[in-house]
Amino acid sequence: MSSVRTPTRYRIQPIAPHAHLFEVACTVDDPDPQGQRFRLPAWVPGSYLIREFARHFVRVRAESPTGAVELVKETKDTWRAAGCTGPLSLIAHVYAYDLSVRAAYLDAQRAYFNGAAVFLCPEGRANAACELIVAAPEGSQFAQWRVATTLPSNGAPAYGFGRYRADSYDALIDHPVEMGHFALTSFEAGGTPHDIVVTGRQQADLPRLARDLARICNWQIELFDGVGARAPFDRYLFQIAAVAEGYGGLEHRSSTSLICRRGDLPARGVTAVTDDYLTLLGLASHEYFHSWNVKRIKPAAFVPYDLGREGYTRLLWAFEGITSYYDDLALARSGVVDPPRYLELLARTITTVLRSPGRFQQSLADSSFDAWIKFYRQDENTPNAVVSYYAKGALVALALDLLLRREGSGSLDDLMRLLWSRHGRTGTGVAEDGIERIACEIAGRDLSDFFARYVHGTEDPPLAAWLADFGVTVTLRPAQGLTDRGGKPASDPLPQSALDARIATDMKVHVVYSGGAAERAGLAAGDQIVAIDGLKSSTDGLRVLLDRSPPGTRVEIHAFRRDELLQCTAELTTPRADTCVLAVATDATEAAHARRKEWLGA
Ligand code: ZN
Repeated sequence: MSSVRTPTRYRIQPIAPHAHLFEVACTVDDPDPQGQRFRLPAWVPGSYLIREFARHFVRVRAESPTGAVELVKETKDTWRAAGCTGPLSLIAHVYAYDLSVRAAYLDAQRAYFNGAAVFLCPEGRANAACELIVAAPEGSQFAQWRVATTLPSNGAPAYGFGRYRADSYDALIDHPVEMGHFALTSFEAGGTPHDIVVTGRQQADLPRLARDLARICNWQIELFDGVGARAPFDRYLFQIAAVAEGYGGLEHRSSTSLICRRGDLPARGVTAVTDDYLTLLGLASHEYFHSWNVKRIKPAAFVPYDLGREGYTRLLWAFEGITSYYDDLALARSGVVDPPRYLELLARTITTVLRSPGRFQQSLADSSFDAWIKFYRQDENTPNAVVSYYAKGALVALALDLLLRREGSGSLDDLMRLLWSRHGRTGTGVAEDGIERIACEIAGRDLSDFFARYVHGTEDPPLAAWLADFGVTVTLRPAQGLTDRGGKPASDPLPQSALDARIATDMKVHVVYSGGAAERAGLAAGDQIVAIDGLKSSTDGLRVLLDRSPPGTRVEIHAFRRDELLQCTAELTTPRADTCVLAVATDATEAAHARRKEWLGA
């Protein structure tokens, strides 16, 4: 195909904030004379679910200077305009009211979009340069709105509406755009300007957030490129939406969109590092690490992305799991938290995995492959059938790091640097066996047994034994109540028995674990427990019962399934020791302490 000389021109404007409608135009100056086809992505890179963004295209029409052009919808996300003389414009109204980082949102307070959800790609022009006009909504109440994006300016003032550009369609959709009122703060890392933009009502200590993120970002830049190196982008933007309840992030080549609880932002006048603040720092660290690991070092299956259908790879455990391992590790290695606090975070990840019996049903490689229909489409049976390539992937990354360090051959840091130099810098995709091959190269020996057991098989890596060599002890105990995420020693007496179900505070059954007491009794997810042993049920009552009753105790349960009352008898079991606590061993050898300091920093 001949190279396209004219840019594809886009214009987007919030035209009806109360109706949540953007007007989006895509203009081709020299359309295909046989009829120009336009396609919308079905998914957004980084989020492995077919989202069918076209379902939010409310109305689409085609125009040329001589008037309306016939437009035919050919598939769910493809339109074809009749042959005409350009310029040809497709103009769409796009409904945007998805408060997540994966699509588009518009109301009178703010506007946000991922290009994949709003910008059509003219067929044959994916590599053409793109020009974009971001137009302000009409009305005096929007006069003070600003724009935050890392799209290069093509005339737009800093943080202003106007003209932007991108080198290709792939680049156009990898710089999400935020519009509205936002708080703005900046810092420098790796000689590169970094901005933080926060939307939503908040009164946070943003200078503190900037200081902590600067340490984390500097550490990550040093990990990949060495001390004093520049970041692999000209600028970086953290787009944070602070809401009442929410959590999520999506990585982009020089920015990330995060959604967090207002309470996760650091409060003014508080110096303690709260668990909530660590949740936000861990999320920001995770997405920033993706700037290398998945945005530049990519699975071969994503080079290039085919956004029309699922992109299958068995490597998501490496791109998400290794990133999940480093997100919290970067907090320790950059000095934002001390090693004991890091061990608390790691113990929580171990706890999450130990509470997922699905890890014995599905390997990390298979979970990666089936992310589209399983991990991203979770239901009540997910804990029994699916392993998280994030959480178990992080533990396998830890295991590989410990293995390489224990043998003295290197570390996971070396693996990341080799991936960066061979794949990230060159743009060469990582083959499906590429991670294993580089790991073997660093180890100087065959590691197929490791990968067969823990990546392609369903075994747990022997972390307790391996952590002992780093002067860290692993203690496992039963959970204490609904809010016990692990990481901390037991504070109260431990329960004597278990019902083997996840029950919410309103006594609704959320998960029934395979082969457990609740399943044998006949309880199912969705059942509303109303009485236990003839008494109105409550979480406090259930906790007292489990604390005091030995395994084998039989309890009578009344529950509604939909509107039908069921009665069943459950025989309580021995609680699983699925809650992890890590601690620095007092009796470890000097060599073990030295290894730990090398691993976590002093
Ligand atoms: Zn991720």
